[in-house]
Amino acid sequence: MQHAKLIKSPNDPKQYQYLVLANGLKVVLVHQADSEKSAAALTINVGHFDDPSEREGLAHFLEHMLFLGSKNYPDAGDFQHFISEHGGSHNAWTGTEHSHFYFDIEHHSFNGGLARFADMFSAPLFTASYVEKERQSIEAEFSMKLKDDSRRIYQVHKESINPAHPFAKFSVGNAQTLADLPNDSLQQAVKRFYQEQYSANRMTLCLVGNQPLAKLAQLATDYFSDLPQHLPAKPALTTPLYLAEQQGIQLNIKPHKSSSRLVVSFAMPDIHPWYPYKLVSFIAHLLGDEGEHSLLAYLKSRELVNQLSAGGGIDGSNYKDFTVAFELTAAGKAHYRDIVAALFSKLRLLTEAPFPEALFLERQRLLNWSFQFYEPTTALQTATDLSLNMQYYPVADIIYGDYRMELPPEGLYQQLLGYLRSDNMRLMLIADDVPTNKEARWYHTPYSIESLPQTWLLQLSTQAAKTALRLPAPNRYLKTEVSLLPLSAHMTVAKQLVNETSLSIWHKADTDFQTPKGHIFLQLTLPNSCQTIVQLAACRLWVELVQDRFNQQLYAATTAGLNYYIHVHRQGVSIQTSGLTANQLQLLADILQQLPDPNFSEQRFTELKQQLCRHWQNSSKNKPVAQLFSQLSALLQPQNPELALLESTLQELSFAHFQQFQQQLLQHQHLEALLVGNWPASAAEYLKLLLQQWQQQQASYGSAIPARQHSIANLGPVWLKSANDEQSDHALVIYLAAQEKSAGQMACFMLANHVMSPRYFHQLRTEQQLGYLVGTGYVPINTLPGLAFYIQSPNHPAPTLYHATVTFFREFLQQVQQLKNDEFCTFKQGLLAQLAERDTSLSARAKRLWLALGQGDYQFSLTSQIQLALQTLAKQDFIDFLEKLLAADYDVLFLATDPAPLQSYVKTMNKNQLTKILSRS
Ligand SMILES: [Zn+2]
Repeated sequence: MQHAKLIKSPNDPKQYQYLVLANGLKVVLVHQADSEKSAAALTINVGHFDDPSEREGLAHFLEHMLFLGSKNYPDAGDFQHFISEHGGSHNAWTGTEHSHFYFDIEHHSFNGGLARFADMFSAPLFTASYVEKERQSIEAEFSMKLKDDSRRIYQVHKESINPAHPFAKFSVGNAQTLADLPNDSLQQAVKRFYQEQYSANRMTLCLVGNQPLAKLAQLATDYFSDLPQHLPAKPALTTPLYLAEQQGIQLNIKPHKSSSRLVVSFAMPDIHPWYPYKLVSFIAHLLGDEGEHSLLAYLKSRELVNQLSAGGGIDGSNYKDFTVAFELTAAGKAHYRDIVAALFSKLRLLTEAPFPEALFLERQRLLNWSFQFYEPTTALQTATDLSLNMQYYPVADIIYGDYRMELPPEGLYQQLLGYLRSDNMRLMLIADDVPTNKEARWYHTPYSIESLPQTWLLQLSTQAAKTALRLPAPNRYLKTEVSLLPLSAHMTVAKQLVNETSLSIWHKADTDFQTPKGHIFLQLTLPNSCQTIVQLAACRLWVELVQDRFNQQLYAATTAGLNYYIHVHRQGVSIQTSGLTANQLQLLADILQQLPDPNFSEQRFTELKQQLCRHWQNSSKNKPVAQLFSQLSALLQPQNPELALLESTLQELSFAHFQQFQQQLLQHQHLEALLVGNWPASAAEYLKLLLQQWQQQQASYGSAIPARQHSIANLGPVWLKSANDEQSDHALVIYLAAQEKSAGQMACFMLANHVMSPRYFHQLRTEQQLGYLVGTGYVPINTLPGLAFYIQSPNHPAPTLYHATVTFFREFLQQVQQLKNDEFCTFKQGLLAQLAERDTSLSARAKRLWLALGQGDYQFSLTSQIQLALQTLAKQDFIDFLEKLLAADYDVLFLATDPAPLQSYVKTMNKNQLTKILSRS
C-alpha cells in the first residue's frame, strides 16, 4: 500500500505520496515546492443520507458543531481565529453521502492549524450552549433559502421518488427537525451520531505544502493517528431511487422566480464504474451541441426554446438522472411535447448511427491536452480535489481519474443510450401558470404530479429521425498541433505595443506556466452605450442578442478548448477570449467580423427583451443583502443603475428605436487590448492589424472617456430605507468609504477588514445569533477603498442589527487600544501573506494584469505599493485610523430594509434626495 503510485501529468512538478495510517485513514501527501500556503482537506463518507429519520439535518448539524470547540481547544472561536490570523481560510459542506472540511494557512502555522483541525474530528465537545446557538444558526440557514428555487424544486423531486431511498430525506434541517425530544436531547443525538458514524476508515485526508514528503507524513501521523477507528465500512446503497409507478410521470412545479423550463430526465444506474470511458459526458456533448443541425438549432428555428443543456441531474452511489433541460419560449411552453418529440428524434438518430469514433477522439484529444498541460491550482484546491477523488477512484487514478478517457468496449455506448427511453423518463415542467394541487413540505412549493399517456410514450419510442438533425460536424477550431513558446520568449512585464488615440494594445508573452493557452481582453469604449438610461438598457439587450446569435455560429469553438465572453462593461462592451492559443485569433476575428452585423429579427428582439425584463424583475426576489448591495453600487456608480430602472426603461423600447441605437453604437469607439500567455510577438502584431483594419471599417473612432463616480465624502451618516417585500428577511448593509484613493488608505481599509471580519462574524452570528448571513468585505468602488458590514436576519429588524453593530464597533475600539505590538504584527503578517500570493495560474495572472490596466495602474505596481504601506504602518496610526473610521460622525451609508432606529443621529433620506446630493458632488 505504501508504494502505490499516482499517475500525474508530465508537466506537474509536485511530488505525491499515498499512505494508510494504522487506524485505516487514507492519506495523500503533496509536496509543492512553490506553494503559497499549506492546506488540508478531509472528506468522510457520511452525509445527510445517514441522518436518523427522526432527526433530519443531523449530519449537517454535526458539521457545524465540529468547528465549535474540541478537547484541547475548547474555545468555540479558536479554530476560526487561528486560521484567519495566519492568513488562511476554512469551510465545510455536507452532501448526500459525504461531508467535506478544509482549510489553508501560512506554512509556519500549519502545525497549529492541523492540531486544531484533527482535534475537531477526534475529540469534539458539543458544548450545550453552542448546541443551542447552532440550532438557531441552522434554522436561519434553512429560512434564508426558503425562496431559493433550486431548494424548492429539489424538495418536490424528493417527494416524487421511492420514500425508502435516503434521497427522500430533508437534508438541511431546521429548528423543528433538530428539536430536543422528550428523552433525547439534540446534544445527546449529535454525540451518538458522531460515535455511530465518524471513523477514520471512512475518511480520506489530503495535506499539501512546501514541506518535504517525509515531514508531511510525520504531520499526518502525529495529528491524525488518534482518530477513532471502530466502525466497519458502510454497506452499499441498494434501495432503488424510483419505483415503477414513478417513471412516465410529469411534475408541474410553480417557481418563486418567474421562469419557464422543461427538464426531461432518464434514470440510469450508478455510472461510476464506467468512468474510464467518459461516455455519459460524451453523450451529453452530442445532445447538447448548439451548432448547425443541432437539436437546439432546430428548436430555436421553430421558436420553441432559448437554451438547452444536457447531462446534468442528481448522481449518487446507486443512481444517476441524465437530464436534458430546456429554457422555453412562450410557444415552447404551450407545445412542450413537441420539444420532447424532437429530443426523441435526435435520440433515434444516435441509436441508428454507428459509434461516432472520430468525434469521440476529438474529445479525448482535448481531455489529454488538459491533463498534459494541466492548470496549476492553489494548495487549497488541490487538497479539496484529491481528498474527494480518494473517495471515488482507485489509488492510481486519484489525480488522473477525471481525465482518463479510453475507447469504450463494444456495446457500452448503445447500452447507455438504451437508458434514454420513454418508459424510463420523467418530465419536470417549471412555469408560473402550471396546474398545481399539492404543496411540498418545508419549502411550500406548489406542484402536481400527472401520469404521461401510454399512447404518447409509445409514439415517442417509435419517433423517426428528422433530416434537419445531424451529428456535430468535425470541429474547425480544433488544430491537431499545440506548441509551447520557447522560455526565451518570456516577458517579465507587459509592454504597450500600440499607443494611439483610439487604440491601445498591451502584450505579455508568458511561459511561466508551461501551458499552450493564452488570454485576450478587448475593451470597446462606446460613448453611445452609456450616456442615457435608454442607452444603458439597450446596450445590455444588444449584448444578449449578439450572444444569442454567436451561440450557434461559434459553438464549435467552445468545444475545442476555446472560450469567449462578451459583456457590458462600464462605458461599453468587453470581449474576452481564452483557451488554447492555436486558433484563438481566428475566433476573435470571427467575433469582430460578425459584431457590427445589425441583422436581428424583430421576433428575436421581442423574445430576448421579454426574457431580460423577466430576469431583471426576478432580481427583486434576490436575497435582501444582495439587493442592498446592488442599490449601493447604483448609488455610487451612475453608469450601473438599479435593475428595476433598467427594466422599466427596456419595456418601453421599440424595435425601431433599438435599430437607431444600434446604428450609432460603434461610433467614436476606443479599443484597448491585452494579450497574455503563449503568444509570440507575431500574434500581437497580427492582433494589431486585425484591430486597425476593423476600426477602419467602422463609422468613426474616438478616445477613451473617464468613468463617472459619486463620492459620499462629507455626507455624514445617512440611513436609506429601501422598498422591500414585507415577507422577506431584514437586512442591513453599512458602507464606509475612504476620502482619498491612496495606497496608504487601501492598506488601512484592507487591514481593518482583515481584523474585524472574524470578530464581527463571531460576535453577531455565533454569539448573538442575530442572523445567518453575517460578514464584512473590502469593497472598493472604482478603486476608492471602502469597507462594508452586512447582516441579514429572519427575525431581528434593522435597528436591532444597527445597535448590535454600533456596540460591536465600540467594544472593538476598546480592544484595539489594548492591542499588543506582536498581535498587531501578526495581523499585518496575515494580510501581507494574502497580498503576497503569487499568480497561481495563467488565468489569475491575466485577470490581474487586465484589472490593473482598468484601474489605470500602467506600472502594475499598486499591489506592491499597498504592501509597502502596510509594512510601514505603525500600530498607533492604525488605531487613530480606526477611531476616526468608526466614530459616530464618519461618512457612512446605512442601507436597510427597515426605517432608521429612533434616538440615533443618522440622517434619514430617501433614494431621490440622496441621488440628488450625490450627483452634485
Ligand atoms: Zn450549514
